[in-house]
Amino acid sequence: IHHPLGFHFDNSFVRLGEAFSRPVMPTAVSGPSLIVFNEALAYQLGGKPYSADYLSCFSGNALPEGAKPISQVYAGHQFGSFNPQLGDGRAVLLGEVLSPRGKRFDLQLKGAGITPFSRGGDGRAALGPVLREYLMSEAMHALGVPTTRALAAVTTGEQVWRERAFPGAILTRIASSHIRIGTFEYFARKGARNEVKVLADHVITRHYPECLSASNPYLALFDCVADAQAQLVAKWMSLGFVHGVMNTDNASICGQTIDYGPCAFVDAFSESASFSSIDTGGRYAYGRQGSIIQWNLARFAECLLYLFDDDINRAVSLAERRLADFPALFDRYWYALMSDKLGLSKGAPDATTDLCANLVKDLLMLMERGSADFTLSFRCLSLGLKSGDFTPFEALFSDLEVVEVRHWVVRWKEALLLMGLVDREIAENMLNVNPSIIPRNHQVEKALAEALEAYDSKSDEQVFPYFNKMIKALNTPYCIEHDGGLLAASPLNGGAGYRTFC
Ligand code: AMP
Ligand code: MG
Ligand code: MG
Repeated sequence: IHHPLGFHFDNSFVRLGEAFSRPVMPTAVSGPSLIVFNEALAYQLGGKPYSADYLSCFSGNALPEGAKPISQVYAGHQFGSFNPQLGDGRAVLLGEVLSPRGKRFDLQLKGAGITPFSRGGDGRAALGPVLREYLMSEAMHALGVPTTRALAAVTTGEQVWRERAFPGAILTRIASSHIRIGTFEYFARKGARNEVKVLADHVITRHYPECLSASNPYLALFDCVADAQAQLVAKWMSLGFVHGVMNTDNASICGQTIDYGPCAFVDAFSESASFSSIDTGGRYAYGRQGSIIQWNLARFAECLLYLFDDDINRAVSLAERRLADFPALFDRYWYALMSDKLGLSKGAPDATTDLCANLVKDLLMLMERGSADFTLSFRCLSLGLKSGDFTPFEALFSDLEVVEVRHWVVRWKEALLLMGLVDREIAENMLNVNPSIIPRNHQVEKALAEALEAYDSKSDEQVFPYFNKMIKALNTPYCIEHDGGLLAASPLNGGAGYRTFC
Protein backbone atom coordinates (compact mmCIF):
# COMPACT_ATOMS: atom_id res chain seq x y z
CA ILE A 1 0.00 0.00 0.00
CA HIS A 2 1.29 3.45 -0.88
CA HIS A 3 -0.24 6.38 1.00
CA PRO A 4 -0.25 9.89 -0.48
CA LEU A 5 1.10 11.85 2.47
CA GLY A 6 1.78 14.92 0.36
CA PHE A 7 5.56 14.49 0.37
CA HIS A 8 7.31 14.93 -2.95
CA PHE A 9 9.96 12.22 -3.15
CA ASP A 10 13.08 12.33 -5.28
CA ASN A 11 15.46 9.55 -4.29
CA SER A 12 18.88 10.66 -5.49
CA PHE A 13 20.92 8.34 -3.25
CA VAL A 14 19.28 5.22 -4.73
CA ARG A 15 20.41 6.39 -8.14
CA LEU A 16 24.07 6.22 -7.09
CA GLY A 17 23.76 2.48 -7.60
CA GLU A 18 23.82 -0.76 -5.69
CA ALA A 19 27.31 -0.31 -4.22
CA PHE A 20 25.91 2.37 -1.90
CA SER A 21 22.74 0.84 -0.48
CA ARG A 22 20.46 -2.19 -0.49
CA PRO A 23 16.74 -2.13 -1.13
CA VAL A 24 14.94 -3.16 2.05
CA MET A 25 11.33 -3.11 3.17
CA PRO A 26 10.42 -2.07 6.71
CA THR A 27 9.13 -5.08 8.67
CA ALA A 28 5.42 -4.73 9.50
CA VAL A 29 4.41 -4.46 13.16
CA SER A 30 1.33 -5.82 14.92
CA GLY A 31 0.02 -2.92 17.00
CA PRO A 32 1.16 0.53 15.88
CA SER A 33 0.12 3.49 17.98
CA LEU A 34 1.09 7.14 17.65
CA ILE A 35 3.02 8.79 20.47
CA VAL A 36 3.86 12.12 18.93
CA PHE A 37 3.67 13.78 15.51
CA ASN A 38 5.64 16.92 14.67
CA GLU A 39 2.96 18.89 12.86
CA ALA A 40 5.10 21.97 12.20
CA LEU A 41 7.91 19.92 10.68
CA ALA A 42 5.50 17.91 8.53
CA TYR A 43 4.16 21.19 7.19
CA GLN A 44 7.67 22.45 6.34
CA LEU A 45 8.28 19.24 4.43
CA GLY A 46 5.10 19.67 2.41
CA GLY A 47 3.15 16.94 4.17
CA LYS A 48 -0.60 16.85 4.60
CA PRO A 49 -2.25 17.33 8.01
CA TYR A 50 -2.24 14.29 10.27
CA SER A 51 -4.25 11.25 9.29
CA ALA A 52 -4.06 7.53 10.11
CA ASP A 53 -2.10 7.05 6.87
CA TYR A 54 0.88 8.60 8.60
CA LEU A 55 0.73 6.02 11.38
CA SER A 56 0.78 3.19 8.81
CA CYS A 57 3.87 4.69 7.17
CA PHE A 58 5.69 5.65 10.39
CA SER A 59 5.28 2.11 11.72
CA GLY A 60 6.54 0.53 8.50
CA ASN A 61 3.19 -1.11 7.72
CA ALA A 62 2.77 0.92 4.51
CA LEU A 63 4.93 3.14 2.33
CA PRO A 64 4.40 6.77 1.45
CA GLU A 65 3.77 7.30 -2.25
CA GLY A 66 7.12 7.83 -3.99
CA ALA A 67 9.25 6.08 -1.35
CA LYS A 68 12.04 3.72 -2.43
CA PRO A 69 13.23 2.20 0.84
CA ILE A 70 16.90 1.35 1.28
CA SER A 71 19.50 0.82 3.95
CA GLN A 72 22.80 2.62 3.49
CA VAL A 73 26.20 1.02 3.85
CA TYR A 74 28.99 2.65 5.83
CA ALA A 75 32.06 1.82 7.89
CA GLY A 76 33.59 3.77 10.74
CA HIS A 77 36.17 4.24 13.44
CA GLN A 78 34.52 3.39 16.74
CA PHE A 79 36.50 4.57 19.79
CA GLY A 80 39.53 4.71 17.52
CA SER A 81 39.32 1.24 15.95
CA PHE A 82 38.23 0.71 12.40
CA ASN A 83 35.14 -1.37 11.67
CA PRO A 84 35.06 -2.04 7.90
CA GLN A 85 31.33 -2.60 7.72
CA LEU A 86 28.57 -1.05 9.79
CA GLY A 87 25.64 0.32 7.80
CA ASP A 88 22.02 0.98 8.71
CA GLY A 89 21.43 -1.97 11.02
CA ARG A 90 18.03 -0.80 12.12
CA ALA A 91 17.25 2.15 9.90
CA VAL A 92 15.34 2.25 6.66
CA LEU A 93 15.67 5.34 4.50
CA LEU A 94 12.23 5.67 2.93
CA GLY A 95 13.49 8.30 0.53
CA GLU A 96 14.34 11.96 0.03
CA VAL A 97 11.63 14.57 0.30
CA LEU A 98 11.83 17.83 -1.64
CA SER A 99 10.24 20.50 0.52
CA PRO A 100 8.01 23.22 -0.94
CA ARG A 101 10.98 25.57 -0.53
CA GLY A 102 13.12 23.24 -2.63
CA LYS A 103 15.26 21.73 0.12
CA ARG A 104 16.09 18.03 0.18
CA PHE A 105 15.58 15.91 3.32
CA ASP A 106 16.08 12.23 4.12
CA LEU A 107 13.03 10.62 5.67
CA GLN A 108 14.20 7.63 7.68
CA LEU A 109 12.56 5.11 9.99
CA LYS A 110 14.78 4.08 12.90
CA GLY A 111 13.84 0.74 14.45
CA ALA A 112 11.93 -0.57 11.41
CA GLY A 113 13.31 -4.11 11.45
CA ILE A 114 16.20 -6.24 10.23
CA THR A 115 18.30 -5.02 7.30
CA PRO A 116 21.25 -6.57 5.45
CA PHE A 117 23.47 -4.62 7.90
CA SER A 118 21.89 -5.76 11.17
CA ARG A 119 24.91 -7.92 12.12
CA GLY A 120 22.98 -10.01 14.66
CA GLY A 121 21.02 -7.04 16.04
CA ASP A 122 17.24 -7.15 16.07
CA GLY A 123 16.76 -4.08 13.89
CA ARG A 124 14.45 -2.58 16.50
CA ALA A 125 14.44 0.31 18.93
CA ALA A 126 13.01 0.56 22.45
CA LEU A 127 10.55 3.21 23.58
CA GLY A 128 12.94 4.98 25.97
CA PRO A 129 15.73 5.73 23.47
CA VAL A 130 13.19 6.75 20.81
CA LEU A 131 11.57 9.31 23.12
CA ARG A 132 15.03 10.43 24.21
CA GLU A 133 16.12 11.12 20.63
CA TYR A 134 12.84 12.91 19.90
CA LEU A 135 13.26 15.17 22.91
CA MET A 136 16.97 15.84 22.55
CA SER A 137 17.02 16.46 18.81
CA GLU A 138 14.00 18.79 18.86
CA ALA A 139 15.50 20.66 21.82
CA MET A 140 18.79 21.04 19.95
CA HIS A 141 16.96 22.41 16.95
CA ALA A 142 15.20 25.01 19.09
CA LEU A 143 18.54 25.93 20.67
CA GLY A 144 19.81 26.74 17.17
CA VAL A 145 22.07 23.70 16.72
CA PRO A 146 22.20 22.00 13.29
CA THR A 147 20.68 18.57 13.85
CA THR A 148 18.66 15.69 12.51
CA ARG A 149 15.06 16.16 13.55
CA ALA A 150 12.16 14.04 14.71
CA LEU A 151 8.98 13.92 12.66
CA ALA A 152 7.19 11.27 14.69
CA ALA A 153 7.48 8.53 17.28
CA VAL A 154 5.23 5.48 17.38
CA THR A 155 5.03 2.35 19.47
CA THR A 156 4.89 -0.97 17.63
CA GLY A 157 2.76 -3.07 19.98
CA GLU A 158 5.68 -5.50 20.08
CA GLN A 159 8.39 -6.01 22.64
CA VAL A 160 12.11 -5.64 22.20
CA TRP A 161 14.59 -7.43 24.42
CA ARG A 162 17.44 -5.40 25.92
CA GLU A 163 18.44 -6.21 29.52
CA ARG A 164 14.76 -6.98 29.86
CA ALA A 165 11.67 -6.60 27.67
CA PHE A 166 10.79 -3.05 26.64
CA PRO A 167 8.00 -1.67 24.47
CA GLY A 168 9.18 -1.38 20.88
CA ALA A 169 9.08 1.97 19.10
CA ILE A 170 10.07 3.63 15.83
CA LEU A 171 11.40 7.14 15.31
CA THR A 172 10.87 8.94 12.01
CA ARG A 173 14.04 10.94 11.53
CA ILE A 174 14.63 13.83 9.17
CA ALA A 175 18.14 14.82 8.06
CA SER A 176 19.68 16.89 5.29
CA SER A 177 21.35 13.56 4.56
CA HIS A 178 22.64 10.56 6.47
CA ILE A 179 26.00 10.54 4.68
CA ARG A 180 28.82 10.24 7.20
CA ILE A 181 32.60 10.30 7.23
CA GLY A 182 32.15 6.54 7.67
CA THR A 183 30.35 6.33 4.32
CA PHE A 184 33.53 7.56 2.63
CA GLU A 185 35.69 5.27 4.74
CA TYR A 186 33.74 2.22 3.64
CA PHE A 187 34.75 2.74 0.01
CA ALA A 188 38.18 4.28 0.58
CA ARG A 189 39.36 1.39 2.76
CA LYS A 190 38.30 -1.09 0.07
CA GLY A 191 40.27 0.87 -2.49
CA ALA A 192 37.03 1.60 -4.39
CA ARG A 193 38.28 4.90 -5.83
CA ASN A 194 35.53 5.30 -8.34
CA GLU A 195 32.87 5.00 -5.61
CA VAL A 196 34.68 7.55 -3.43
CA LYS A 197 34.58 9.98 -6.35
CA VAL A 198 30.90 9.26 -7.10
CA LEU A 199 30.08 9.86 -3.43
CA ALA A 200 32.14 13.05 -3.27
CA ASP A 201 30.44 14.38 -6.39
CA HIS A 202 27.04 13.51 -4.93
CA VAL A 203 27.86 15.33 -1.69
CA ILE A 204 29.13 18.39 -3.55
CA THR A 205 25.97 18.63 -5.65
CA ARG A 206 23.73 17.97 -2.69
CA HIS A 207 25.33 19.93 0.15
CA TYR A 208 28.15 22.13 -1.10
CA PRO A 209 27.47 23.16 -4.72
CA GLU A 210 29.77 26.18 -4.24
CA CYS A 211 32.69 23.71 -4.48
CA LEU A 212 31.97 23.14 -8.15
CA SER A 213 33.48 26.48 -9.07
CA ALA A 214 36.55 26.06 -6.83
CA SER A 215 39.90 25.40 -8.49
CA ASN A 216 40.15 22.12 -6.56
CA PRO A 217 36.55 21.03 -5.79
CA TYR A 218 37.55 18.12 -3.54
CA LEU A 219 39.82 20.22 -1.37
CA ALA A 220 37.00 22.75 -1.22
CA LEU A 221 34.69 19.90 -0.13
CA PHE A 222 37.07 18.98 2.67
CA ASP A 223 37.19 22.62 3.76
CA CYS A 224 33.38 22.88 3.79
CA VAL A 225 32.99 19.74 5.91
CA ALA A 226 35.76 20.84 8.29
CA ASP A 227 34.15 24.25 8.61
CA ALA A 228 30.67 22.81 9.22
CA GLN A 229 31.99 20.39 11.85
CA ALA A 230 34.08 23.07 13.57
CA GLN A 231 31.01 25.29 13.84
CA LEU A 232 28.86 22.40 15.04
CA VAL A 233 31.16 21.14 17.76
CA ALA A 234 31.91 24.67 18.98
CA LYS A 235 28.15 25.23 19.19
CA TRP A 236 27.67 22.00 21.18
CA MET A 237 30.35 23.02 23.63
CA SER A 238 28.94 26.53 24.00
CA LEU A 239 25.77 24.88 25.32
CA GLY A 240 27.48 22.34 27.56
CA PHE A 241 26.56 19.44 25.27
CA VAL A 242 28.53 16.20 25.32
CA HIS A 243 27.77 14.06 22.26
CA GLY A 244 29.23 10.93 23.80
CA VAL A 245 29.86 8.79 20.74
CA MET A 246 31.82 10.80 18.20
CA ASN A 247 32.74 7.81 16.08
CA THR A 248 33.39 8.61 12.42
CA ASP A 249 30.12 6.91 11.46
CA ASN A 250 28.38 9.48 13.64
CA ALA A 251 30.10 12.46 11.99
CA SER A 252 27.66 13.82 9.46
CA ILE A 253 29.05 15.22 6.22
CA CYS A 254 26.45 18.00 6.14
CA GLY A 255 27.37 19.11 9.67
CA GLN A 256 24.25 18.10 11.56
CA THR A 257 24.26 16.48 14.98
CA ILE A 258 23.46 12.80 14.51
CA ASP A 259 23.10 9.88 16.94
CA TYR A 260 21.50 10.84 20.23
CA GLY A 261 22.32 7.53 21.97
CA PRO A 262 24.52 8.53 24.93
CA CYS A 263 24.55 12.34 24.70
CA ALA A 264 23.91 14.58 27.72
CA PHE A 265 24.22 18.19 28.84
CA VAL A 266 26.65 18.90 31.62
CA ASP A 267 25.12 20.27 34.84
CA ALA A 268 27.95 21.22 37.23
CA PHE A 269 30.67 22.18 34.79
CA SER A 270 33.66 19.99 34.21
CA GLU A 271 36.02 19.82 31.20
CA SER A 272 36.21 16.06 31.70
CA ALA A 273 32.44 15.53 31.85
CA SER A 274 31.62 12.22 30.19
CA PHE A 275 28.36 10.33 30.61
CA SER A 276 28.40 7.32 28.32
CA SER A 277 28.68 4.02 30.15
CA ILE A 278 30.90 2.65 27.37
CA ASP A 279 33.22 5.66 27.14
CA THR A 280 35.29 4.47 30.08
CA GLY A 281 38.46 6.29 28.98
CA GLY A 282 36.69 9.62 28.49
CA ARG A 283 37.71 9.70 24.82
CA TYR A 284 34.59 11.73 24.02
CA ALA A 285 34.55 13.89 27.17
CA TYR A 286 33.29 17.49 26.98
CA GLY A 287 36.67 19.19 26.58
CA ARG A 288 38.04 16.66 24.07
CA GLN A 289 35.37 17.18 21.44
CA GLY A 290 37.34 19.77 19.44
CA SER A 291 40.37 17.54 19.04
CA ILE A 292 38.25 14.46 18.37
CA ILE A 293 36.49 16.12 15.46
CA GLN A 294 39.94 17.05 14.12
CA TRP A 295 40.91 13.37 14.40
CA ASN A 296 37.74 12.38 12.53
CA LEU A 297 38.48 14.95 9.83
CA ALA A 298 41.94 13.41 9.40
CA ARG A 299 40.18 10.11 8.60
CA PHE A 300 38.01 11.99 6.11
CA ALA A 301 41.06 13.59 4.48
CA GLU A 302 42.64 10.13 4.09
CA CYS A 303 39.62 9.05 2.05
CA LEU A 304 39.97 11.99 -0.33
CA LEU A 305 43.77 12.12 -0.75
CA TYR A 306 43.95 10.88 -4.31
CA LEU A 307 41.18 13.33 -5.27
CA PHE A 308 43.18 16.22 -3.80
CA ASP A 309 46.13 15.66 -6.14
CA ASP A 310 47.55 12.95 -8.44
CA ASP A 311 50.85 13.36 -6.64
CA ILE A 312 50.38 11.64 -3.28
CA ASN A 313 53.07 13.70 -1.54
CA ARG A 314 51.44 16.91 -2.63
CA ALA A 315 48.02 15.57 -1.57
CA VAL A 316 49.35 14.65 1.87
CA SER A 317 50.91 18.04 2.42
CA LEU A 318 47.67 19.79 1.37
CA ALA A 319 45.75 17.68 3.89
CA GLU A 320 48.34 18.15 6.63
CA ARG A 321 48.31 21.90 6.26
CA ARG A 322 44.54 21.96 6.64
CA LEU A 323 44.55 19.70 9.67
CA ALA A 324 47.29 21.79 11.26
CA ASP A 325 45.16 24.89 10.75
CA PHE A 326 42.06 23.24 12.20
CA PRO A 327 42.61 24.08 15.90
CA ALA A 328 42.80 27.79 15.04
CA LEU A 329 39.62 27.52 12.94
CA PHE A 330 37.88 25.74 15.79
CA ASP A 331 39.06 28.31 18.35
CA ARG A 332 37.72 31.16 16.23
CA TYR A 333 34.23 29.65 16.26
CA TRP A 334 34.48 28.72 19.93
CA TYR A 335 35.61 32.15 21.12
CA ALA A 336 33.11 33.91 18.87
CA LEU A 337 30.26 31.91 20.43
CA MET A 338 31.59 32.30 23.96
CA SER A 339 32.13 36.04 23.50
CA ASP A 340 28.52 36.25 22.37
CA LYS A 341 27.47 34.45 25.53
CA LEU A 342 29.31 37.07 27.57
CA GLY A 343 27.85 39.93 25.55
CA LEU A 344 31.34 40.87 24.42
CA SER A 345 31.20 40.50 20.68
CA LYS A 346 29.06 43.34 19.39
CA GLY A 347 31.42 45.91 17.97
CA ALA A 348 34.41 44.31 19.68
CA PRO A 349 37.62 45.80 18.32
CA ASP A 350 40.28 43.21 17.40
CA ALA A 351 42.49 44.40 20.22
CA THR A 352 40.03 42.93 22.70
CA THR A 353 40.23 39.37 21.30
CA ASP A 354 42.70 38.24 23.97
CA LEU A 355 40.71 40.00 26.62
CA CYS A 356 37.59 38.02 25.59
CA ALA A 357 39.46 34.73 25.43
CA ASN A 358 40.93 35.25 28.89
CA LEU A 359 37.56 36.12 30.38
CA VAL A 360 36.07 32.95 28.86
CA LYS A 361 38.91 30.75 30.09
CA ASP A 362 38.89 32.24 33.57
CA LEU A 363 35.13 31.96 33.94
CA LEU A 364 35.17 28.29 32.90
CA MET A 365 37.97 27.65 35.36
CA LEU A 366 35.99 29.27 38.17
CA MET A 367 32.89 27.32 37.15
CA GLU A 368 34.80 24.05 37.28
CA ARG A 369 36.40 24.84 40.64
CA GLY A 370 33.11 26.08 42.07
CA SER A 371 30.99 23.22 40.57
CA ALA A 372 28.77 25.86 39.00
CA ASP A 373 25.92 24.73 36.77
CA PHE A 374 26.90 25.45 33.13
CA THR A 375 23.53 26.63 31.83
CA LEU A 376 22.57 28.60 34.94
CA SER A 377 25.95 30.35 35.12
CA PHE A 378 25.46 32.06 31.77
CA ARG A 379 21.76 32.63 32.30
CA CYS A 380 22.17 34.13 35.78
CA LEU A 381 25.03 36.30 34.56
CA SER A 382 22.71 37.68 31.85
CA LEU A 383 19.87 38.21 34.33
CA GLY A 384 22.33 39.80 36.74
CA LEU A 385 23.38 42.34 34.16
CA LYS A 386 19.74 43.13 33.48
CA SER A 387 18.72 43.58 37.13
CA GLY A 388 22.02 44.70 38.61
CA ASP A 389 21.80 41.91 41.19
CA PHE A 390 24.53 39.27 40.81
CA THR A 391 23.69 37.38 44.01
CA PRO A 392 22.02 34.43 42.19
CA PHE A 393 25.07 34.18 39.89
CA GLU A 394 27.52 34.23 42.80
CA ALA A 395 25.48 31.62 44.65
CA LEU A 396 26.13 29.06 41.89
CA PHE A 397 29.81 28.76 42.81
CA SER A 398 29.31 26.67 45.88
CA ASP A 399 32.87 25.77 46.82
CA LEU A 400 34.49 29.10 46.00
CA GLU A 401 35.25 32.31 47.83
CA VAL A 402 32.75 34.83 46.56
CA VAL A 403 35.54 37.45 46.17
CA GLU A 404 37.05 35.46 43.29
CA VAL A 405 33.73 35.41 41.45
CA ARG A 406 33.17 39.10 42.16
CA HIS A 407 36.61 39.94 40.88
CA TRP A 408 35.83 38.16 37.60
CA VAL A 409 32.52 40.10 37.32
CA VAL A 410 34.40 43.40 37.78
CA ARG A 411 36.87 42.50 35.00
CA TRP A 412 34.00 41.44 32.75
CA LYS A 413 32.08 44.68 33.34
CA GLU A 414 35.19 46.68 32.53
CA ALA A 415 35.43 44.81 29.23
CA LEU A 416 31.76 45.52 28.49
CA LEU A 417 32.44 49.19 29.12
CA LEU A 418 35.14 49.06 26.45
CA MET A 419 32.56 47.79 23.96
CA GLY A 420 30.49 50.87 24.60
CA LEU A 421 27.02 49.31 24.78
CA VAL A 422 24.57 49.93 27.58
CA ASP A 423 24.08 47.09 30.07
CA ARG A 424 20.41 46.59 29.27
CA GLU A 425 21.09 46.12 25.58
CA ILE A 426 23.91 43.70 26.28
CA ALA A 427 21.72 41.80 28.72
CA GLU A 428 19.01 41.36 26.09
CA ASN A 429 21.57 40.03 23.58
CA MET A 430 22.91 37.64 26.19
CA LEU A 431 19.45 36.34 27.11
CA ASN A 432 18.96 35.42 23.45
CA VAL A 433 22.03 33.18 23.35
CA ASN A 434 22.11 31.77 26.89
CA PRO A 435 19.20 29.37 27.28
CA SER A 436 17.13 29.24 30.41
CA ILE A 437 16.25 25.61 29.86
CA ILE A 438 17.97 22.63 28.24
CA PRO A 439 16.87 18.97 28.33
CA ARG A 440 18.39 18.28 31.72
CA ASN A 441 19.38 14.70 32.42
CA HIS A 442 17.30 14.28 35.56
CA GLN A 443 14.23 15.65 33.78
CA VAL A 444 14.72 13.56 30.63
CA GLU A 445 14.98 10.49 32.84
CA LYS A 446 11.78 11.47 34.63
CA ALA A 447 9.91 11.90 31.34
CA LEU A 448 11.10 8.51 30.05
CA ALA A 449 10.35 6.72 33.33
CA GLU A 450 6.84 8.16 33.34
CA ALA A 451 6.31 7.07 29.74
CA LEU A 452 7.48 3.52 30.42
CA GLU A 453 5.29 3.30 33.50
CA ALA A 454 2.23 4.61 31.67
CA TYR A 455 2.88 2.09 28.91
CA ASP A 456 3.42 -0.81 31.32
CA SER A 457 0.23 -0.05 33.17
CA LYS A 458 -1.51 -0.32 29.78
CA SER A 459 -3.25 3.00 30.26
CA ASP A 460 -4.65 3.69 26.82
CA GLU A 461 -3.75 7.31 27.32
CA GLN A 462 -0.70 7.33 25.05
CA VAL A 463 0.02 10.89 25.97
CA PHE A 464 2.89 11.19 28.34
CA PRO A 465 2.29 14.48 30.20
CA TYR A 466 5.84 15.18 31.39
CA PHE A 467 7.34 14.30 28.00
CA ASN A 468 4.87 16.59 26.25
CA LYS A 469 5.41 19.37 28.76
CA MET A 470 9.16 19.19 28.13
CA ILE A 471 8.76 19.13 24.34
CA LYS A 472 6.60 22.22 24.49
CA ALA A 473 8.83 24.19 26.88
CA LEU A 474 12.06 23.25 25.10
CA ASN A 475 10.63 24.70 21.91
CA THR A 476 11.35 28.19 23.38
CA PRO A 477 14.53 27.68 25.42
CA TYR A 478 15.50 31.37 25.55
CA CYS A 479 12.11 32.58 26.76
CA ILE A 480 12.21 34.56 30.02
CA GLU A 481 9.06 32.76 31.21
CA HIS A 482 11.07 29.67 32.09
CA ASP A 483 13.44 31.45 34.46
CA GLY A 484 13.05 30.22 38.00
CA GLY A 485 10.64 27.51 36.84
CA LEU A 486 10.92 23.81 37.52
CA LEU A 487 12.50 22.96 34.18
CA ALA A 488 15.29 25.48 34.76
CA ALA A 489 16.32 23.84 38.01
CA SER A 490 19.66 22.08 38.24
CA PRO A 491 19.83 18.69 39.98
CA LEU A 492 20.68 18.78 43.68
CA ASN A 493 24.01 16.98 43.38
CA GLY A 494 25.14 18.87 40.27
CA GLY A 495 24.35 15.79 38.18
CA ALA A 496 27.38 13.86 39.39
CA GLY A 497 27.46 10.19 38.47
CA TYR A 498 24.88 10.39 35.72
CA ARG A 499 25.30 7.57 33.17
CA THR A 500 23.87 7.13 29.70
CA PHE A 501 23.48 3.95 27.66
CA CYS A 502 23.19 3.58 23.91
P1 AMP B 1 25.59 3.57 17.00
O1 AMP B 1 26.52 3.16 18.10
O2 AMP B 1 24.25 3.96 17.48
O3 AMP B 1 26.18 4.58 16.08
O4 AMP B 1 25.33 2.25 16.13
C1 AMP B 1 26.38 1.51 15.60
C2 AMP B 1 25.88 0.50 14.63
O5 AMP B 1 25.08 -0.51 15.27
C3 AMP B 1 25.02 1.05 13.50
O6 AMP B 1 25.43 0.43 12.31
C4 AMP B 1 23.63 0.62 13.89
O7 AMP B 1 22.80 0.48 12.75
C5 AMP B 1 23.86 -0.69 14.58
N1 AMP B 1 22.78 -1.03 15.51
C6 AMP B 1 22.50 -0.43 16.69
N2 AMP B 1 21.43 -1.01 17.26
C7 AMP B 1 21.02 -2.01 16.46
C8 AMP B 1 19.96 -3.00 16.51
N3 AMP B 1 19.09 -3.05 17.52
N4 AMP B 1 19.86 -3.86 15.47
C9 AMP B 1 20.72 -3.81 14.45
N5 AMP B 1 21.72 -2.94 14.34
C10 AMP B 1 21.89 -2.04 15.33
MG1 MG C 1 25.18 5.80 14.91
MG1 MG D 1 23.19 5.18 18.32
